[in-house]
Amino acid sequence: MTPRSPLARLTRRSLIAGTPLLLAAPAILRAPQLFAQYPFRLGVAAGDPTSDGFVIWTRLAPDPLADHAGMPMQPVAVDWQVASDDRFDRVVAHGSAIAHPDLGHSVHVEVAGLASDRPYWYRFTVGRERSIAGRARTLPAAGSRLDRLRFAVAGCQNYEDGLFTAYRHLANDDPAFVFHYGDYIYEGRSSPVPVGYDGRPRRFVRAHVGQQLYDLADYRRRYAQYKLDPDLQAAHAATAWFATFDDHEVENNWVGLVDQENDPPEQFALRRAAAFQAYYENMPMRRAAMPVAGSVQLYRRALVGDLVDLHLLDTRQFRTDQPCGDGFKPACPGVADRNAQVMGVKQEGWLADALHQRAARWQALAQQVMMMPLDRRTGDEPAPIRNMDSWAGYDAPRERVLAMLDGVPGAVVLTGDEHQNFLGELRRDGGRGKSVATEFVSTSISSGGDGADVRKGADRIAAENPFLAWTNDRRGYLLCDVDRQMWRGAFRTVDAVSTPDAPVRTAGTATIAFGDPTPHIA
Ligand code: FE
Ligand code: CA
Repeated sequence: MTPRSPLARLTRRSLIAGTPLLLAAPAILRAPQLFAQYPFRLGVAAGDPTSDGFVIWTRLAPDPLADHAGMPMQPVAVDWQVASDDRFDRVVAHGSAIAHPDLGHSVHVEVAGLASDRPYWYRFTVGRERSIAGRARTLPAAGSRLDRLRFAVAGCQNYEDGLFTAYRHLANDDPAFVFHYGDYIYEGRSSPVPVGYDGRPRRFVRAHVGQQLYDLADYRRRYAQYKLDPDLQAAHAATAWFATFDDHEVENNWVGLVDQENDPPEQFALRRAAAFQAYYENMPMRRAAMPVAGSVQLYRRALVGDLVDLHLLDTRQFRTDQPCGDGFKPACPGVADRNAQVMGVKQEGWLADALHQRAARWQALAQQVMMMPLDRRTGDEPAPIRNMDSWAGYDAPRERVLAMLDGVPGAVVLTGDEHQNFLGELRRDGGRGKSVATEFVSTSISSGGDGADVRKGADRIAAENPFLAWTNDRRGYLLCDVDRQMWRGAFRTVDAVSTPDAPVRTAGTATIAFGDPTPHIA
C-alpha cells in the first residue's frame, strides 16, 4: 500500500536544493519524490454524495503531529482518480488538485458526472506515493423510486475515552452513507477520567497530544492525531459521510459567539474561526462549506431517491445562549423565552419550506442535540431536571419544530450528543401532547468509556418520561434500514472500548411503521 521511491530516504532539503524540476516550477511542487515519509498517513474520505458525484478528500501529512504535518510551505499538486471498479481498470474521472498550505495541504475534489446509485473507488497520488483506495456510493436520483436504503449514524469519538472499534464494524455493515452528528474531536488537553458512569475504575486507553485547543495549529494537530486511528480511517474509506459539527469541534457547549467562559464574543470569534477552518480542512466537505468570514454554511439537504429527505441541521451557530446558566438544572423562566432560538429564523424557514415539499416518503432531521424534553432525574431530586444544552432548554423553538412536523407522515429525528442510546416519541406541548415524530438518539463511538447495558438511574428516567421507549448505555452507532413501510433502527454496540477487537452486537432494534411514530423495540 505504500510504494516507496528509491529517493524517499533523501531529505526534503536536499531535494528542494538539488532537483532541477523544482527550480523550473517554483510555484507548485510536482516533484515525483517530495516526501521523506509516506504523505497519506491520514487516509482518504468522501462526503456529501449526490446522484452524480461526491467530494473526495485527503490531506498530505508525512509527519502528522509535527508543525504543518511535516509539509513544506508550498502548494503541492495531487493527482486523483475515480474508477467504477476496485482495481481501477476503468477510471471514469481523473485530474489534478492543489494541496495548499493555506488549507493545511488538504485536497477537496468535487467529482461530478457519475452514474447514480452505484459504488465508485477513488485514490490519490503524488509522484510515486499513492493513497489507499476509498469507496463511495452516489445517491439514487432525487425523486426516483427507491425501495430500500441502509445508512449509519455516528459521532462523539473522544480519543481518550476509548478505541474506535465501532467504526470498523460500521464499515463492515456497508451503509450507503454515514451521518456524523459531531464531536469528531474533543478540544481538551489530556485528562484521564479514573471512574466511569458506573462508579467503577476506568482504564485509560490513550492520551491527547497537546494542550487545550485554541489556534489553528492546535486544532489541525488534534485532527491529525484522531485521523491516524485505523478504525476511523476504515469507516471513511468504506463510505461517504455527511459531516456536521456539534460543540467539541470548537469548545464544550459553545453557541453562536458565546463560549463557556463568557469571553468577549469578538475574542471567541477568532478561536471559532480557527476551529471551523481546521474542520473544513479535515472533513470531506463541499466548497460551499468553506468558512467565510468566520461562519460556515453547515445546514443542507440530501434527497435520497423518493424515499428519504435528509435535512442536516446546524444547532450551534445560530442558537441563543443556554438558559439558566447551562448545565443540568431545574427549569428557570429562560426555558420558556419566546425569543430563544436553536436553528435561527432563517434556518427554521428553510426547514419549513423543505418539509412542505414532501419530496420523499420519510422526512429525517439529522441533527446534534436531543429534542425530547427529558426529565433527567436519576435519584430523589424533587423538581424535574433538564439538560439546558439540548432542545429541552428551548421550549419555544422545540414546540415550533414539532408543530412543523405535525401532520408530516414518517418524520424521524436522528440525534447524538448524549453518549448513550435513547429511543422515544416527540410529543407536542412539553412531551404531554400529540406524538408527531420518532427520535433516535445514537450513543457515542467512544465518549464515556465502556458503559453498561443499563446506566445507573435509568429506572427513574423511564418513570418520569412516558414518551421514552428505551435506553442503553453501550458505545456504538445506529444502523438505519429504511423501506417504504418500515424504518428500522438497529442500535449496534460494542461491550468494550477499553480493550481492542470487541465484537459488535445489536442491543436493540426499533421499528416504526410509516405514519405511526410509536417505536417498537425488540
Ligand atoms: Fe460528545
Ligand atoms: Ca456534543
